[in-house]
Amino acid sequence: MSDYRQMWADLGLDLEKHDLLLGALPAIYENIYLSQENRPEGMGYFDFVISEIHGLRVKELMDHKAKGGKVIGTYCVFVPEDVVLAAGGVPVGLCAGAQFSIPDAEGVLPNNTCALIKSSFGFKVGRTCPYVQASDLVVGETTCDGKKKMYELLAEHHPTYVMEVPQKKTASARALFFDEILHFRDRVEAETGVRITPDSLTAATSLVDSKKTALQRFNAARKVASLPISGLDALLVNQVSFYDDVVRFTDKVNALSDELESRIKHGQSVFSDGAPRLLVAGSPMAIPNWKVHRVLEDSGAAVVAEESCIGFRYYNYLTGESDGTMEGQLRAIADRLLENHCACFTPNEERVQDILNLANEYSVDGVVQYSLSFCQPYANEAVKVGRALTAAKIPVLNIETDYNDGDMGQMKARVDAFLEMIKDR
Ligand code: SF4
Ligand code: SF4
Repeated sequence: MSDYRQMWADLGLDLEKHDLLLGALPAIYENIYLSQENRPEGMGYFDFVISEIHGLRVKELMDHKAKGGKVIGTYCVFVPEDVVLAAGGVPVGLCAGAQFSIPDAEGVLPNNTCALIKSSFGFKVGRTCPYVQASDLVVGETTCDGKKKMYELLAEHHPTYVMEVPQKKTASARALFFDEILHFRDRVEAETGVRITPDSLTAATSLVDSKKTALQRFNAARKVASLPISGLDALLVNQVSFYDDVVRFTDKVNALSDELESRIKHGQSVFSDGAPRLLVAGSPMAIPNWKVHRVLEDSGAAVVAEESCIGFRYYNYLTGESDGTMEGQLRAIADRLLENHCACFTPNEERVQDILNLANEYSVDGVVQYSLSFCQPYANEAVKVGRALTAAKIPVLNIETDYNDGDMGQMKARVDAFLEMIKDR
């Protein structure tokens, strides 16, 4: 990693603080990931990606910028990555899953803000994330209140553009969102100096669709009884999808799926027989937030699916082909994005149905509703989801937590009791 020091200095990172962050990561990763037994060989690529998380991928971005290309940082799946790709830009999902950066945010943002918002803001003001430093523009959205107010403060530190995402799915809201996609296209063209054409947009959308199709295939391998991969590893793959090169990532996920399908054929499982199968639903788990999966799987459960934007709410929706015109293609993208049942929408009954469907498709024994502390949308929606699960006789556990490890013992005790209850049914 030391080869990258000059690059990090050129990016304006606080090198001393950054050393602390990178110094802590290998032991955490070893403890949570590398200690797992019988992992698929294809996970080697993702281990390598993490070992180079602030190195090789950042170098690729810098090489792209040296050739005149642009990097656009994003925080939400409502920002269409295909529009960025169509202009020759590189979209990157910005890190928001680490406790490390939170103290830097707490001097500015109210304490009762969700950890994801604090983490992303802290990475910028603490100058510890090379991805945000490498981004020519960061793009926010008006999803939840905490995020949209944070972006106003972020704009004091970094070029920031905010897309309006409606909170309902009425005809007028759809018209507004289509308009926002047009504005975003214009803003990306202005940033990159590249005019997007129907052909370049169609090609970019096809790349994104291929990536999501690969993720659909990969996640489908978790539907079987004899699970070929842990939930922790699957979460990592879903997380890496947001900042790896789109073509390389798609190839690696397909290669991993080949291996998983072969494991399924040979009945090779990473879990002992009878491990309770769990669906985790709720707030997104941005890298490196592995806390809940870790507690669940350390307690003997198998996480088989994530109803999350790091998971199903991202990969489930493909754009497909449009009429080939710019307007048709952008409308297809807008429609695709509004398929996402984020809890920021009201009403949002479709999400309740998604969770019931996933519980059925993945043959789960229980659902863990996960809300980050102070995440109003998911914590409130947990009420309706919980009622529907109870009516369907599916056990449900609500976990509200942040990125701090302090409550892991208490969480484990609740998870153990939940798993006992499932086994006794
Ligand atoms: S949960 Fe909502 S706001 Fe958060 S990334 Fe997903 S769509 Fe965006
Ligand atoms: S986790 Fe909840 S509060 Fe935090 S950014 Fe996402 S929707 Fe907003």
